[in-house]
Formats: sequence, C-alpha cells, structure tokens
Amino acid sequence: MTPIPDFARRRAELTPDRLAFEELATGRRATFAEVDAATDRIAAVLRARGLVDGARVAVLCHNQARFFEILFAAARTGAILVPLNWRQTPAELIPIIEDCGAGLLIHDAATAELAAALGPIERLSFADLEAAMAAAAPEAPAGTLPGWPALPGGPALPGWPADRVWYLLYTSGTTGRPKAVIQTAGMALANAVNIAQATQLRETDVTLNVLPLFHTAGINLHALPVFLWGAASLIMPRFDVDATVRLIADGRLTLFFGVPALYQAIALHPDFDRLDVSRLRHWGCGGAPLPEPLIRRFLDRGARVCNGMGMTETGPTVFLMDPERAPSKIGSVGKPQVLAEVRVVGPDGADLPDGSVGELLFRGPAVTPGYFGNAPATEAAFAPGGWLRSGDVGRRDADGYYYIVSRIKEMYISGGENVYPAEVEAVLDAHPAVLEAAVVGVPDARWGEVGHAVIRLRPGASLEAEALRAHARARLAAYKVPKYVTIVEDYPRTAAGKVQKHLLARSLNPEAAS
Ligand code: ATP
Repeated sequence: MTPIPDFARRRAELTPDRLAFEELATGRRATFAEVDAATDRIAAVLRARGLVDGARVAVLCHNQARFFEILFAAARTGAILVPLNWRQTPAELIPIIEDCGAGLLIHDAATAELAAALGPIERLSFADLEAAMAAAAPEAPAGTLPGWPALPGGPALPGWPADRVWYLLYTSGTTGRPKAVIQTAGMALANAVNIAQATQLRETDVTLNVLPLFHTAGINLHALPVFLWGAASLIMPRFDVDATVRLIADGRLTLFFGVPALYQAIALHPDFDRLDVSRLRHWGCGGAPLPEPLIRRFLDRGARVCNGMGMTETGPTVFLMDPERAPSKIGSVGKPQVLAEVRVVGPDGADLPDGSVGELLFRGPAVTPGYFGNAPATEAAFAPGGWLRSGDVGRRDADGYYYIVSRIKEMYISGGENVYPAEVEAVLDAHPAVLEAAVVGVPDARWGEVGHAVIRLRPGASLEAEALRAHARARLAAYKVPKYVTIVEDYPRTAAGKVQKHLLARSLNPEAAS
C-alpha cells in the first residue's frame, strides 16, 4: 500500500515559516520547518539507539511541542510511541511499561521523580535528549527544505505506512484494566479529514492544546488535524481556567475543544458573563455526557457548543454536532462524521429502526485495527464485518441525528426495568441547585438494583434529597427515580475529567445517604 507522506516533512515543505506550536508557559514557538528539523534530529537519536521498526518508546511529559516532535520522529524511524499518564502511580505505570515492552522512557523535568520510580527501564530526560539532538547529524535527506542538501535521485522520505502501529494509547480506565489501543497514521489521517470537514479548518486557525497528550483528545483534537492543515496550536501544559478565559477573551483562538469538565469550569468563572465567546468560530466538546444547562449557558453567551462522541478506539471522533443544528438538537451528538459509519443493533446483532435504543457499532478508516498484543480483546471488540462494538447504547432520530443513551456497563436493572443513568442524570442536572449529577446502580433487596444519585451542588446552593426526588418524580418513571442521594465535593475522575463510576460505586454507602 502506498505510504502516507510524512506529515511533518510535507508541512515543512508547504508552509515552512508558519507557526505550528506555541507553548504558552515557556513562550517557545516552533514553525513547521523547525518542527521538522527537530523531528529529524530526534529520529537520528532514536536510530542511534536502535529504536526503529516496532521498538517501543514510552514518553512521560506535560503538554509541550517536544511531544509532537517525538511522535513524528517515532513515525520516521518506525518506533512505536507509548504516551504515559503522569497522573498515574508507579504501581499503575510499571505494568503498562511491561505490557508494551518499552525499551526506553523519555521524560520531561516535571515528571522526573515519577520516571525514576518506574523500575529498571532505560531513561532519557528531555534535557539529555536535547543535548543528543544537538550532537546528532540529521540522517534523513531533507529534500526541498531550504539550506538542506537533497540526496541525488532518492525520494525525500519513505513515508508512513498507513497501517503500521504508530503509537499506543492505554484507555484511561473508566471501566477497568487498561488496554493498549493501536493508533496508525491511516487513522490519524482519517480523523483529520473528519475534524477538518466538521470544523471547516483553515491555515489561519488557532486552537488550544490542553487535554492531556496521553489521551486521544490531546493528540487528535485538534492538534494533529490542525498541524496537517497548517494551522497553529497554542499549548498549555495543564488546564488553567484563568489563563483559558484570558485566551478566549483576547480573541486569538478560533477553535476550542474541551471535555465537559473544562466547559463547566469556564462557565463558573467570574468573568464568564462578560466574556465574548462569540469570537471563536468553533466550540467542540466530547468524551462524556454534556449537560443541557451547560450548553444553554454557552448558547446564551452566543457560543454554539457542538457535542461530539468518540472513543480512543475510533481515532477518536465518530460524531460531531453541526453548529447550525446545535441549538435545536440539544442532547444529540450530531451525525456520523464524513468517514465514519454507524449502526444501531439489538442483542441479536440485527439493525434497529430509528428511535429504538441499541448498541452502537462503528466502522471506518479512523477505527483502530485492535489492541496491541491482545488478540482475545481485539476479537471480542469486533462484530462480523469489521464493526467495532462501542459498548455504548444510543439511538438515531428520524433526521439522522444520534443520541448517546448510556454505556452498556453503566445500565442497571430496577424491578426488571432497564435504567440508563445518563437519562436520569440529564433530569437531575436540570435542577437549579445541581452543578453535576452522577447516578450509579446499587444493590437493593426489593428491586434488585436502585439508583444512587451523587450530586455536586452549585456554589452556595443547598438541596434536600426529597426535593431532588420530587423533581425527578415529576419527569421520570418511578423506577428511574434515585432511591439514595449523596452530596459530594467532586468525583473520582480520569485525567480527561471523566467520572470513574466503578470507583464512585465502590465508595458509596447507601446507609449514610439520604
Ligand atoms: P475505557 O477505559 O472503558 O475504554 P475510557 O473513558 O477510558 O473508557 P475513552 O475511549 O476515552 O475510554 O472514552 C470513550 C467513551 O466515552 C465512549 O465509549 C462513551 O461511553 C463516552 N463518551 C464519549 N463522548 C461522549 C458523549 N459526548 N456523550 C456521552 N458519552 C460519551
């Protein structure tokens, strides 16, 4: 199969002097030519260490431009990059390093202490990498880059085989033991087409990169699509709501992609009601259910937040709402992206009619070929015909818009009836005292299972459990009304801000609830 041209090299040839990355914390700016040149030197360092053709290289760092140069360098040598979650403990990371068989761990200064605790793996700090880069002779011919000699007759670079394993993303573990989701250049390309199409990307766009780089959202929303389109990413090492609000206010950003927890933080900021959110062209959100009051809060300020849905396994975006319909289709994640196919099926695998709730199956060039070194998990994940089982239930309306109803694993059965927590949460979210609601099923002697609502209150609000149940009773069938209510400050969350319901369920004590 014809390889995909090296993204970093092609961009450097097309728009060498345009800004690719700017680090907001350090002020470091890198043009496409500079990214390509650094990529070449990192590739030379990896080659000198034999890290080519399938060798695994782990990387641990906060968001910064160097990460992307390492990612592109891995593609150039054929090494497989394994971004690690710096919020995890050595007890969580060591099994991942062993699982993927990484031969080198590259880490930044901020994660040095954690890196030192990760067992007998060879380590390379970013500072030592930079020293090695300075000493390294770029090996790959530079083709048409100004000032760089082209090798006679030869192609510039062999390109990136579309199906070769490029990097691995360990799923963040909202449902259990992490698995290494294979990511390829072909997937990245397809996702970039989807995102570019949905957001009408252009070279003058500027996006914020703040979601963690060990998560598909940090890499693919919007960083890689934006890079491929020749636009710029401003990189924030960790989410800082004040700095984000200032950036939105100064009008430099044209696109924003966040998870619901980021939107929530922005909406609660004291300057939000004065913020001119209409200056951004596109607001995307995904990763977890987006509460309706939050969408309305942004709509009231003139921003149409487009809810989208995808998975690490799908590159990630399968759905993204179109801005035109965002106000009239609140609650929907939109239609499938241009390169994504979706089915809604029943337990027997047969397609269901519009309006019926069933499992969502996904297919398309942005979908992973499987889990690295885990054939049983890969086999279990796909239905015949190459359809990925999402583990989510949803439905399609008569206009072709999709709604995510729940994760299958989060559904519980109360008195013989299926209850989808997301539906109950949406109702609880609408109560004026509620900032955020999470509902889990807990065992019950009479009904088998009942709902336990765990609530975060709006600042300064108070709430009686019975008042919340009355609100729910007026809007939901009785078996869906949570029997227990607990107020908490916050939930256990993944690095991407998702509620870890399995941990939440374990922490609950119905006897202490009201
Ligand atoms: P696991 O470890 O179980 O794979 P994860 O949260 O780590 O979970 P991701 O690939 O990051 O895995 O998340 C994908 C899941 O997030 C989807 O399957 C879906 O359940 C949920 N999700 C993503 N976007 C939305 C959305 N807009 N609305 C509701 N749920 C969403």
